[in-house]
Amino acid sequence: MNNCLEINGLTFRPYLSAAQIAKRIGELAEELKRDGADESTLFVCMLSGAFVFASDLLRAMNTTAEICFVKWSSYCGTQSSGELTEQLPVTADVKGRKVIVVEDIVETGMTMRRFVEKMKAMGAADCKIVSLLHKAQLQTHAVHIDWVGFEIDNAFVVGYGLDYDGKGRMLRDLYAKV
Ligand code: 5GP
Repeated sequence: MNNCLEINGLTFRPYLSAAQIAKRIGELAEELKRDGADESTLFVCMLSGAFVFASDLLRAMNTTAEICFVKWSSYCGTQSSGELTEQLPVTADVKGRKVIVVEDIVETGMTMRRFVEKMKAMGAADCKIVSLLHKAQLQTHAVHIDWVGFEIDNAFVVGYGLDYDGKGRMLRDLYAKV
């Protein structure tokens, strides 16, 4: 297939273009502001996958708000391991704060459910979620995703921050495994 690419033996086809993503991010930035995100919001970027999305979304909002970075991982290769490891904890003081988690993709919802519980246990006044991608058909853990860039089907995707075995994060477009 034209424009397909190969990473570590797997073939990926074009899925969402950089232009489609940029257009949707502009809309999301407006939606977040309309729904109350402001200078007092603490944004939490989930590393590593959300670093590109968070960078584009928050600059589209042109905000002076604070951002912190955390790293929890559940994925191994192209599948969730079902286990979560906290590799970089929350360092900001979240007590009484309005938190918005910036995530790349929600699949089972396990990571976001546990993270929201953690934010509440740490005293956050509110914890909302914005995710670029959502595999609604695969979500098994109850958690509400407040803003979604794109609802997608059951595809393993790379590019725009998301990796396969550490590779592909710097691709401008999103690709899906064939
Ligand atoms: P969940 O806890 O919702 O099952 O999984 C969320 C995490 O799994 C995401 O933050 C991401 O790291 C990883 N993930 C889920 N689906 C994909 C995918 O299609 N591609 C990549 N690269 N990572 C994924």
